[in-house]
Amino acid sequence: MTCPRCLSHRVGQVAAGQYYCGDCCIEFTPGADGMARMFLVDEEGELTELGTGEEKIT
Ligand SMILES: [Zn+2]
Repeated sequence: MTCPRCLSHRVGQVAAGQYYCGDCCIEFTPGADGMARMFLVDEEGELTELGTGEEKIT
């Protein structure tokens, strides 16, 4: 699994189908089509959608 935003491999799973990138501090969810929806996490744990990654994630 690589981050759809920065392509880092420092990605951890936080929940079923939900991943967190330790380099750019976003969460992302792989979609059925292989594209990831990305979310910014603020201090209160609120998620702000950043959009969809440009490349399919593996
Ligand atoms: Zn990243």
